[in-house]
Amino acid sequence: MKYISTRGHVGQPANPEFCDILLGGLAPDGGLYLPESYPRIGRAELDAWRSLSYAGLAFEILSRFITDIPAADLKAICDKTYTADVYRHARPGDDTAKITPVHWLEQGRLGLLELSNGPTLAFKDMAMQLLGNLFEYVLAKRGESINILGATSGDTGSAAEYAMRGKQGVRVFMLSPHGKMSAFQRAQMYSLQDENIFNIAVTGMFDDAQDIVKAVSNDLEFKAKYKIGAVNSINWARVAAQVVYYFKGYFEATTSNDQQVAFCVPSGNFGNICAGHIARMMGLPVAKLILATNENDVLDEFFRTGVYRPRKTAETRVTSSPSMDISKASNFERFVFDLVGRDPRKVAALWTEVDAGRPFDLSASAEFARIGDFAFASGSSSHADRLATIGKVFEQYGVMIDTHTADGVKVAWEQIETIPADVPVLVLETALPVKFAETIREALGRDPEVPADLQGLEALPQRVEVMAPDLEQIKRFIVERV
Ligand SMILES: *Cc1c(COP(=O)(O)O)cnc(C)c1O
Repeated sequence: MKYISTRGHVGQPANPEFCDILLGGLAPDGGLYLPESYPRIGRAELDAWRSLSYAGLAFEILSRFITDIPAADLKAICDKTYTADVYRHARPGDDTAKITPVHWLEQGRLGLLELSNGPTLAFKDMAMQLLGNLFEYVLAKRGESINILGATSGDTGSAAEYAMRGKQGVRVFMLSPHGKMSAFQRAQMYSLQDENIFNIAVTGMFDDAQDIVKAVSNDLEFKAKYKIGAVNSINWARVAAQVVYYFKGYFEATTSNDQQVAFCVPSGNFGNICAGHIARMMGLPVAKLILATNENDVLDEFFRTGVYRPRKTAETRVTSSPSMDISKASNFERFVFDLVGRDPRKVAALWTEVDAGRPFDLSASAEFARIGDFAFASGSSSHADRLATIGKVFEQYGVMIDTHTADGVKVAWEQIETIPADVPVLVLETALPVKFAETIREALGRDPEVPADLQGLEALPQRVEVMAPDLEQIKRFIVERV
């Protein structure tokens, strides 16, 4: 399988393979990588795959996208990644061996697809754990190493650290805003004692940490000399890994391959739902992809109006579903590439506007007129909606959900009337409530349950360096440790 850039590789060598793009980020022309065509999955494959384990299904799907790793090696990587031991936090009564079990709220009609059973209790573990094993494998083959530098305000950083801890050839330097994360999130990251994990708490805001990462990435000489890499949400391997659970969710929620299913996805950077879009393009019987945002509704606005209006940093709201607080959606360009008939010149023209901080308007275009072909619907949610939804789900079903999943359930309730009664609607559960205890207390007047193996986490010794947001000082810290 060859990969292309959404902007057409202007002036660049074309068509790398999977391992060539695994360790990088953007394509050299500033675009995002996508497979040159989507593998078509027919009825025969669906019939053969229905009974597979998660790891078996992951191998079948990923081997369509990854043709430059020998099949036996890829199989071993999938088997090692998707185990009930790694993804062990299923709700009592749900089958941990399924990795992403469905927990029905209304049997056969409305369910949660549990994606947050991994080590850091958020869906990012689904892809990041695979990425850790892929990185280790490819780096060993090439005799190389990498130093991952990132900034996090919560879920991404911890998912990356738990995926990369103890991996040969990989070091992680993760910047976080000092004192700005929840006690649980801090304990999760800072209690790691692995030699190859470095936590740096920056005395500033998330944006200060992010600016330092950007400044280092723009210093091409430093970047090359110290082999600086990233694991951000535009990484193609993460999107590919996420395609798997859409298939698994379909098989869990239906009994026959004649049925259809709908997914409702709490969204920020459009990485999760982009994988759903690709699964549907491959031939998965998806009736509807429902996109849910919080108050930061740039994506909901696009699907309602055809106008994509990235927000300024100052316009970005701080909400109680913080992992969806984005001003522009970094993976959205992948969908727009398909929407405009995979024409890289059109994408490049649209993102000339976006990169200059201007909106684009497709409302009167022939492309937006065809948006119905892509089966999207959307909606948004507020803090009050979130509290009400968490309360109602707990009261009606005895199930505690997190703030992001609540945004999904709220929008799924709005849309469910438009979906035929024999089509199950699965809300993707993107985090467990214990990560957002403060809002759970506000909604329910009680504390969320802490998984047994994480009780006492906050009392463990922590390993973190507190530093000023000073570029030179942080560069020196890295240089002294690689
Ligand atoms: C990252 C994240 C999201 C948003 O996912 P995108 O791929 O950025 O759309 C939603 N919920 C949680 C809990 C997350 O960590």
